[in-house]
This record gives sequence, structure tokens and C-alpha cells, in this order.
Amino acid sequence: MKATSLQYARELDANDPLRKWRDEFWIPEREDGTPEVYLVGNSLGLQPKRTAGFVQAELENWQRLGVRGHFESEQPWMPYHECLAKPMADLVGAEPDEVVMMNGLTVNLHLMLATFYRPTKTRHKILIEEHAFPSDYQVAQSQIQHHGFDPAESLVVAKPASEQATLCNDAIVDLIRQHGDTLAVVLLPGVQYYTGQVIDMARIAEATHSVGARIGLDLAHAAGNVPLSLHDWNIDFAAWCSYKYLNSGPGSVAGCFVHRNHASDGELPRLAGWWGHDKKTRFEMKNHFQPIPTAEGWQLSNPPILSMAAVRASLNVFAEAGGIEPLREKSLRLTAYFQQLLEETLGDRVNIITPHEPSERGCQLSFELIGVQGRAIQDELESRGMMTDWREPNVIRAAPVPLYNSFEDVFRFVEALAEVM
Ligand SMILES: *Cc1c(COP(=O)(O)O)cnc(C)c1O
Repeated sequence: MKATSLQYARELDANDPLRKWRDEFWIPEREDGTPEVYLVGNSLGLQPKRTAGFVQAELENWQRLGVRGHFESEQPWMPYHECLAKPMADLVGAEPDEVVMMNGLTVNLHLMLATFYRPTKTRHKILIEEHAFPSDYQVAQSQIQHHGFDPAESLVVAKPASEQATLCNDAIVDLIRQHGDTLAVVLLPGVQYYTGQVIDMARIAEATHSVGARIGLDLAHAAGNVPLSLHDWNIDFAAWCSYKYLNSGPGSVAGCFVHRNHASDGELPRLAGWWGHDKKTRFEMKNHFQPIPTAEGWQLSNPPILSMAAVRASLNVFAEAGGIEPLREKSLRLTAYFQQLLEETLGDRVNIITPHEPSERGCQLSFELIGVQGRAIQDELESRGMMTDWREPNVIRAAPVPLYNSFEDVFRFVEALAEVM
């Protein structure tokens, strides 16, 4: 059977051990009632059907119990965030005491840098990558300025060899060595948002530590997408959002990782708030600060329960589906099939920017459209219910997500793209 036939795609779906999970999600529909081909889970993950029940339960607890909901009910609000630590930690390869859900991603990066970026006259540089997500760039830049340093001298930028090339791990390691003991923090993505490249986090962490600097990761596109081992790789800190591959809803509460070596150190400087204070004495309302000796010690405010209920529902789905390993296994097949279809159907009319080596990418493929007005193509695809993400000048980013996308989705998308082109 030809790989480029619908029948073949349906066969792959029929043999997919995770196929039942698609029915656990709300797939947006076109006007005619047929499901969209939704390949933008890298931007906003779809809603699990069980999420409404989890959120509704907390709305009802609030109706029924008012302030008593903090202590009564099945999962009281006071320790609500604690039930997220273990399932979240499992997905990022951490210990539960190293992980906390709080704030937004960018806020968490700032909080982490308040602790781990303590520049001195001799060691004051932050290394980032040239095409870092603007927010990450702005975090690094403003932290440097906040401490009275000049980004022109203190911001080190790792550049790929050309505009649309991927980052070279060797070049990053060389750059780290080159800046040596002037380097304070390396801040890189686990999965680069534009190209979908997975960087060699373990190796870069080792190189960073060898010059006495700290490594922090932005895992916005990595959490829930690829296996991670933050603890074993000795990552110092990390942050990620929960609304992309973690399917927890728009602007939902973010994740934060602090390695146990640091998390247990109550002496570490930080921007503090009462929710990071020792739980036994928190309500004595005294002014001294005694941090919880875990990642929770970086919490500031009491957290948004309704948002956490959505995170809880989503982590519940991940755990029931068997965790990241079986999902990654399907993801590798789904994305390899996607690449094969693009190549066989469109040949040299698309140029795949994402690394071809499966271990160096997550589920997303980014590809340049050649010899066409890309924007018009994207618009036409969208009018046919083919949802992907567009980036100037001519790049489509499409992410088949193993929990809810099918091989047929991928087939239908490539078929439509070929037709439109
Ligand atoms: C999505 C994304 C963000 C968004 O930051 P928020 O604080 O959640 O708004 C930041 N950085 C990267 C790399 C992202 O992919």
C-alpha cells in the first residue's frame, strides 16, 4: 500500500495504541461540522474533555464552602498545588520537590534569574541564542540592565550559521568556553520554538558548569513534547508554560524547576513572598522570611485554583496515557510520517528546516515554502480548516501532537497543502 494513500494513513491509525486519546479531547470544528486538522498544539493545546469536570468541581466547592474550601473538600485549595508536583515532575524528569506550578513562564524566568543571576564586575554575562523567543530575549536584556550592566557587553548571543539554520551544539559549547569565567548564566530553550530543534541539554549543562556558570532552560516547547531529565542533567533551573503541549488552557499557570541542590538552600537570595514561606508558620503573619526548602520556596502568591484544576485534569490525561515515553514513541512515528509525506508529495517545493534526525526534534516540523506567496497559501489552508502557524517570511510550523492528532490529520494536511500549492 502506498504511503501516500488515505487508506495507509487509516491503517496507521487503526494500529495506534494511543488512538483512543483523541476522543478525550475537544477538536474544533469547521462550519460544516467536520473536525479541523489542528496542528497548532505548539501554540495552544486542545482541551481535554475531563477539564470541565475538574474546573466545575472547584467552582462548586467555592459555591458550597466559601473560604472553607481552603481546608475542606476532596483536594483542599491550601495544598492544591502539591498534587501537581509529582505528575508534573514525572513529565520533566525531576523530583517532586524540584517542581512547582506558579505564575506565568516569563515571570518564572525573572524569578529564577533574581536568584541565579548575581552579576559581579568579572562574571556578568548571560548567554542566549540569536532567535530566542522575544520574551526570553527581553528577560535577559532587562535583567542585565536591572543590575546596572550593559547588554552590549553582557549579552552573549549564540548564532546559527545562517538565517534559517539550526543551532550547532559544538558552537554553543565553544562559545561557553570562550567566555569562560565571565559567564554567569546560560539561558537556552530545550526545544527551539521556530525550528523545532532539540538542543543537547545535558552536554550544554556540563559545559556551562565547567566554567562555573549556571544553566537555565526555557521549556515552553519541550514540556509534554519530548522526554527530559532535568534532575540527572543537573539543570540549575527551568520554566515552562502549561498551555502549549500541556493542554491546560490559555494563559494557564506555568511550571518552574529548581534543582534540589539549590532548592534546599534557604540562604539563596530570591524575591520572596508569603507563599514561599514555611507552611507551619505562614499564618503567624510574622515579617521574617523562612523559605520552604523545595521549589515551593520561590512561590509568591497563593495560586489560581481554577487554572490549577485545568492543569490537574491535563496531567491526569498524561499519566493515564502512560507518561511521556509512549507518547514520544508515537510522536516519532507521526512526525517521521509527516516528513515522508512532505518529501514524497511536494519534493523540492518545501524545505524542512527542522533537523531530520529524530532525536534532535520534537513533534513539530517547520518548513519553508519555495517559489510561492506563502501567506496566501496559509490563508487558503486555514479556510479549509487546516490549522498551522505562520512565520514570516515563508515558514509554516505544524505540530502533530501524539495525544490527539491522527495519521489521517497529517495525511489530510499534506494533501491540502499540495493541492493549494
Ligand atoms: C510561548 C513562549 C513564551 C510565552 O511566555 P509567557 O510568559 O507564557 O507569555 C515564552 N518563551 C517561549 C520560548 C515560548 O515558546
